[in-house]
Amino acid sequence: CGIIGRVGDGNALEPLLTGLENLEYRGYDSAGVAVQNGSGIDVQKRSGKVDELKASIGDTPLEGEVGIGHTRWSTHGPPTDANAHPHTDGTKDVAVVHNGIIENYAELKAWLADHGHEFTSDTDTEVIPHLIQFYLDDGMGNEAAFRRAIGDLEGSYAVTAMLSGEHVLYAARQGSPLVVGMEDGEYFLASDVPAFLEYTDSVVYLEDGDVVIVDDDGVEFTDLEGNPVARESETIEWDP
Ligand code: GLU
Repeated sequence: CGIIGRVGDGNALEPLLTGLENLEYRGYDSAGVAVQNGSGIDVQKRSGKVDELKASIGDTPLEGEVGIGHTRWSTHGPPTDANAHPHTDGTKDVAVVHNGIIENYAELKAWLADHGHEFTSDTDTEVIPHLIQFYLDDGMGNEAAFRRAIGDLEGSYAVTAMLSGEHVLYAARQGSPLVVGMEDGEYFLASDVPAFLEYTDSVVYLEDGDVVIVDDDGVEFTDLEGNPVARESETIEWDP
């Protein structure tokens, strides 16, 4: 339903939670965040409202400069804590948030299970971090593994992923909206521009088939194969 991602200096948690609150108007049944702390990925997610997520996080905030967050509107599996996003692979090297529906998730899940992958949710989404992990285990680099996993998906998706140990967000769009927000040294991904309105008014709307790689130095706009695509930034005029 709602996606927010953030790369920059300083702690990611506050812009992520602000983003989730800004996306509450869309309606949702669960919320979660994942933050990268340099030595791994920390996840907090649960059914219920963003306020309840904040209460769960409590006084031990997740530390890290790179993170992703999600408000879920369930399509595959009931609104439980386990089904809330972000979803990870078994080793928590990869975290993913997703809007939309992966039509071929049952085949992908069966294939991954045959290769030893164990699943902890009923969602279609959970195949995505596991696919990325499968290709990493197969020897691919992070970017190649992300592209290959996205190439395996059929259906509609806006996906944002983060891999342990690097200051990078990977995102892809097919049939579900995704926008990039850009400020000096701080970058956002979101399903809708109001998510990051406190932080930037400079946005790029992604198109179907786009794959973007966001790090501290900027945003690379490409197609699935990695060929550059030209995308114009726009300045949003916010109504007061
Ligand atoms: N299909 C996914 C799920 O059920 C994503 C739903 C959404 O767009 O929030 O978890």
